[in-house]
Amino acid sequence: MARILITSAIPYINGIKHLGNLVGSQLPADLYARYKRARGDEVLFLCATDEHGTPAELAAAKAGKPVEAYCAEMWEVQDKLGRGFRLSFDHFGRSSSAQNHKLTQHFAGRLAEAGLIEEVVEKQVYSVADGRFLPDRYIEGTCPNCGYDKARGDQCENCTKQLDPTDLIEPRSAISGSTELEVRETKHLYLRQSAMRDQLRDWINSKTDWPILTTSIAKKWLDDGDGLQDRGITRDLDWGIPVKKGEDDWPGMEGKVFYVWFDAPIEYIACAAEWVEAGKGADWERWWRTDKGAEDVRYVQFMGKDNVPFHTLSFPATILGSGEPWKLVDYIKSFNYLNYDGGQFSTSQGRGVFMDQALEILPSDYWRWWLLSHAPETSDAEFTWDGFQQDVNKDLADVLGNFVSRITKFCRSKFGEVVPEGGSYGPQETALIGDLETRLRRYEAHMDAVDIRKAAAELRAIWVAGNEYLQSAAPWTVFKEDTERAAAITRFALNLVPFYAGLSAPFIPDAAAAMAEAMGVELAWPESAEAALSALPGGHAFIVPEVMFAKIADEAREDWATRFAGTRG
Ligand SMILES: [Zn+2]
Repeated sequence: MARILITSAIPYINGIKHLGNLVGSQLPADLYARYKRARGDEVLFLCATDEHGTPAELAAAKAGKPVEAYCAEMWEVQDKLGRGFRLSFDHFGRSSSAQNHKLTQHFAGRLAEAGLIEEVVEKQVYSVADGRFLPDRYIEGTCPNCGYDKARGDQCENCTKQLDPTDLIEPRSAISGSTELEVRETKHLYLRQSAMRDQLRDWINSKTDWPILTTSIAKKWLDDGDGLQDRGITRDLDWGIPVKKGEDDWPGMEGKVFYVWFDAPIEYIACAAEWVEAGKGADWERWWRTDKGAEDVRYVQFMGKDNVPFHTLSFPATILGSGEPWKLVDYIKSFNYLNYDGGQFSTSQGRGVFMDQALEILPSDYWRWWLLSHAPETSDAEFTWDGFQQDVNKDLADVLGNFVSRITKFCRSKFGEVVPEGGSYGPQETALIGDLETRLRRYEAHMDAVDIRKAAAELRAIWVAGNEYLQSAAPWTVFKEDTERAAAITRFALNLVPFYAGLSAPFIPDAAAAMAEAMGVELAWPESAEAALSALPGGHAFIVPEVMFAKIADEAREDWATRFAGTRG
């Protein structure tokens, strides 16, 4: 049994995420966690909300609430939506937790002892109109790298370059739009990432199995231009983790907090400590400290491409720089973007489908299947309502749902709600078992490699094979001349239902559970196609399940296309 630690990039607290966010981290991470658990591995799957920084402060102010109360409330909302999408986190934590405060301060202290923190008196942008220092992401301007005119002071979301606000051309306050900005002096701490460049390069070069998307972004920021830059890890803000050197005060840094990018990835570790405190686990260091049992853990991270620089360079710099035996990531699965109907999903414009809205209109399995089978792995992908309707109706309703419904109803009408006895499998069944055995191993290989689209395509082919078998074996015709043969065909096809349930559960857990329940079996990963397809003996009782997947009608599709075109109500 392998031990697999899985983390999804942690969603920011200030609102409900759209489906593009979901498919870029949490959903594929859940697929992988469910698959690994089904294969019998020991899995710890963690996610949390990312709660610090100015956007949370501003969103709370806008909602008229203290920021702590606002974050607590939004955590509840995100937790509930995660459960709605059946995201099977072992723990859904919070970066504002006491555990993360302690660990973040601990790492800062270790980095300082190692000489990797520099105190810098720097000039920071002060907005006279707003009466405050402006955090990087609240300064907007033109990106010096690509010319995008809405680049933020911390990063250009168009070209992903990490920026400092003073790099921006024609900067303005994102709060008030004021260009009356002054540069004033303030002291900050910098993580000396540049001093760790060779160590980081060696480590990244050793990861020969990483997706190209991940390594290409990492290498770009490691070596392009002047190479990896030192990065500020503190801010002039109220809301965040107070700057401390371990448990000691940090002279000159009173009233300042750690920058959210520094404390957010440390929450991956703190979340495991929260998991233990919540009574769900016994020993979190066993997952995170290679001197305390984590040397055999395989750690896999999931994230959108905009998060890759932080996870390949900055967070590893924190871990390596601490000089302590913390677990480093073994595999980073990163994603391109999912676009929405000819443009981008937009949180600010309310364009696209958001997690709460999605669950209001359809069960989560519909979304899970479509999003995962169209995961933006090698390039950006696009959601269109036509495509969604067509794919979901075909794959889920016409192929899988129809197969289950057809064979269970046929059996009920001819043999009753029990698996029929009599007859034996012939060449047609033997051939399909051979085909499904090959496909099963291929499906497992794609899932092990986290090749999500390929895995979905193989699963779809496995469903199609059953439908084609049923169509060609045609027990309803055979029944008229040879009831024994019809019984064998029916028994074989009924055995495909739990086989499908086990294989489909990582993608569509609710439907899979309903299929297993209707067949009176526990969900299980098949050892082999041959064993699985004679698992249900003659005489085993089942019930005909409810309609598993209602088709999406044209009218509903048109309605939704209009409703989600923009400006969320
Ligand atoms: Zn840019």
